[in-house]
Amino acid sequence: MCRSSETPLDRIMSGLADVPGWLADQPSGQLGQVIIKSREIIDRTEAIAGEATRRFEKAGGYKADGFLGMIPWLRVNGKLSGAAAAERVDVAHQLKELPRTEEALARGEIGYQHAVTMARTAQNVGAAQVRKAETTLLKAAVTTDPGQFVGVAKNFEHQVDAQAALAEANHAHERRYLRIGQPLNGLVRIDGLLDAEGGAIVRTALEPLAKPTKGDSRTPEQRLVDALVERCQARSGSTHPDGAGPRPQVIIKASLDTLADISGAPAAELDWGGTVPAETLRRIACDSAITRITGLGELEQEITHAGRSIPPATRRALVARDRHCVFPGCDRPAPWCDGHHLIFWGDGGPTRLDNLGLTCRTHHRKVHEEGWKLRREKDGRWVATPPLTVIPRARTG
Ligand SMILES: [Zn+2]
Ligand SMILES: [Zn+2]
Repeated sequence: MCRSSETPLDRIMSGLADVPGWLADQPSGQLGQVIIKSREIIDRTEAIAGEATRRFEKAGGYKADGFLGMIPWLRVNGKLSGAAAAERVDVAHQLKELPRTEEALARGEIGYQHAVTMARTAQNVGAAQVRKAETTLLKAAVTTDPGQFVGVAKNFEHQVDAQAALAEANHAHERRYLRIGQPLNGLVRIDGLLDAEGGAIVRTALEPLAKPTKGDSRTPEQRLVDALVERCQARSGSTHPDGAGPRPQVIIKASLDTLADISGAPAAELDWGGTVPAETLRRIACDSAITRITGLGELEQEITHAGRSIPPATRRALVARDRHCVFPGCDRPAPWCDGHHLIFWGDGGPTRLDNLGLTCRTHHRKVHEEGWKLRREKDGRWVATPPLTVIPRARTG
């Protein structure tokens, strides 16, 4: 091979080809350094690609390849999503005006995400303003992680132009949305964007409910989504701090066979679409203060009649006795709890204090859908025992 025709990028590529064999021999104590160097290579090559992108675009190189713009060219040839490609092109434009930032990125002093923040700041307040403070901002970038650096940059923006900062916040607010999808394979997708204040309010509301309980095996994400559901269940419509008042109603259509958990019965249907298995129906029906259940056709009268709620006086007595979820180790307060019938009312269990126990949603689910047994000893102690066999993932027959 002729050495003179080899470009610096070719040398990087042949170096990369040697890495897997070398990496296999590295002791685990060295891997932190491996990761740090790898990240630095990625960041520094972003600077190379950025400068090349700018010049390639200016020369109209993408047209020669049959593309209408730089972003689609980069999406296809750079293997990037539309948003990631647009970000690269934006940053490349802005860094033309911020040569010191581009140099710092090329030398590996700051990361690509720091450079993105510098570029965004230039977009918001003008590159000339950023250039005046570039040295100070870069110094901050070197000593903060990219997340913290966004805060530094936002402060700077506000100092330079409070009006523009407000306009940007208002623009961000305009982009807010929440989508709640149709049930698909038993799951509903929720996604959205909140402005910073809305995000903080939601986080503050959910975090106390998302704390792990004793022996909690849920992931942080699972705890957060449970907290969201609990919050909606406990707060909307309830005027009573003990949860005795009206609760949000989930309307479910179900046949008596399903409620009685008779094999071969159809699944229960939710008002918003989607179905739930019999065990879930029985849990929701367990504290029917939360739910109105309607039957199908001639069964309607019977079920609606059967699904009467726990009377407020009984609920208050239950709250006074249990105070919080009765599962050992759980202290979720009464307003977030259902009144669980130890013997299901559909099986003849009475709606009386000695047949009831407060359970948070997570633990109520454990009892119904996950087959745990919950009982109250003579001395008032609650005992929860896990199922002997694993509940099947899907029912057959
Ligand atoms: Zn129950
Ligand atoms: Zn609990």
